[in-house]
Amino acid sequence: MKVVVVGAGAFGGWTALHLLRKGAKVTLVDAWGPGNSRASSGGETRVIRGVYGKDRIYTAMARRAFELWHENEARWKKRLYTRTGALWMVADSGEFVRSSIPFLREFRFAYEEISTAEARRRYPQVDFAGIEWTLLEKEAGYLLARRSCADVLEGFLAEGGAYREALAAPPEIAGGRLAGVALSDGTHLSADGYVFACGPWLPKLFPDVVGGRIEPTRQEVFYFGTPAGDSRFSETHMPVWVETPRFFYGIPGNERRGFKIADDARGVAFDPTSGDRTPSAEALRTAREYLARRFPALAGAPLLESRVCQYENSPDHHFIADRHPGAANVWIVGGGSGHGFKHGPALGELVAGNVLGEKPTEPLFSLSRFEAGKPPG
Ligand SMILES: Cc1cc2nc3c(=O)[nH]c(=O)nc-3n(C[C@H](O)[C@H](O)[C@H](O)COP(=O)(O)OP(=O)(O)OC[C@H]3O[C@@H](n4cnc5c(N)ncnc54)[C@H](O)[C@@H]3O)c2cc1C
Repeated sequence: MKVVVVGAGAFGGWTALHLLRKGAKVTLVDAWGPGNSRASSGGETRVIRGVYGKDRIYTAMARRAFELWHENEARWKKRLYTRTGALWMVADSGEFVRSSIPFLREFRFAYEEISTAEARRRYPQVDFAGIEWTLLEKEAGYLLARRSCADVLEGFLAEGGAYREALAAPPEIAGGRLAGVALSDGTHLSADGYVFACGPWLPKLFPDVVGGRIEPTRQEVFYFGTPAGDSRFSETHMPVWVETPRFFYGIPGNERRGFKIADDARGVAFDPTSGDRTPSAEALRTAREYLARRFPALAGAPLLESRVCQYENSPDHHFIADRHPGAANVWIVGGGSGHGFKHGPALGELVAGNVLGEKPTEPLFSLSRFEAGKPPG
């Protein structure tokens, strides 16, 4: 079977690789290249974790993703995952974290519930004011984001895949099928199946089918400088941390780029192609205020770097991985909704199975879930 995959981010790159390994002849296309600075996968690092509240499916997928990250790191002799653990700092009754515990056990994620008093002893660099309890998720850590997208492409090419750097025109579907994809270099690709894993660009490519079901929003990330020689804020002395229910999170060492801090709150609508990526004074102020409160020794720390990226939110924050309702040979994959990166290898495996007819589509990721009368998620 010949398949064209458009989009070489976390979702498309891994889908293309799995399709290839399952015997398909695959061409991967990307307008600006894997993990480019406009792509949602284009950041330096991304958190990988198993805690997912009541959403068992994502804890299960995280387990499979861990296996595949490890397997491919070994195959490529590259380090893409750093184990730091993740410290969940719970400022409310903790329903989100607590409801995940049965699934952590089911999928063998080691964890430790830590009282606030004990957390204060272990992490004196953190001010735990207002935190009710904490949970240390031991296997969690961070992944190299844009680097791994490039590594996936490198692996894909080494195993016989074909890659084109070009913009794919919006698909023209006729008679219930797609006959081919026109590229910006004037060429045309035809195949038996087409996967569009175009992240925040999906609404423009499929205005009828995706449209408002994915909303790209502006998200800002800041990297602050720690004092020279001070390892309290590096991964040797601090895990990845997440505060709930106000979802602030960060990656301490962050590949020496600085103490990374991000606010998960939904930003304003954003155009991934032409949106201005200058950081806003307001988001910087919020990050600084949080930093001063939770990590007092970093109050006034210099800002080293920042990034403006976008989430591509689905209404229920679940992924979209489904066949186009009007074209039997087209699949749409996206809706990472701020948490998709870690799942790239597992979602890619699922989608490759869907395209090759080996696996049914996952109902939670279906497009039909948005139809009137259907309950969300
Ligand atoms: C600030 C931030 C922090 C995040 N933190 C985490 C985290 O800690 N953990 C986690 O798991 N997830 C996280 N996420 C979410 C995760 O990064 C995304 O869900 C994931 O990267 C989405 O990947 P994608 O492949 O769907 O999209 P993308 O990475 O955007 O890939 C889409 C690709 O399609 C290409 N493309 C689009 N249109 C066309 C076209 N017409 N022709 C050719 N190519 C085209 C683009 O160039 C792009 O490379 C975060 C996201 C952001 C923005």
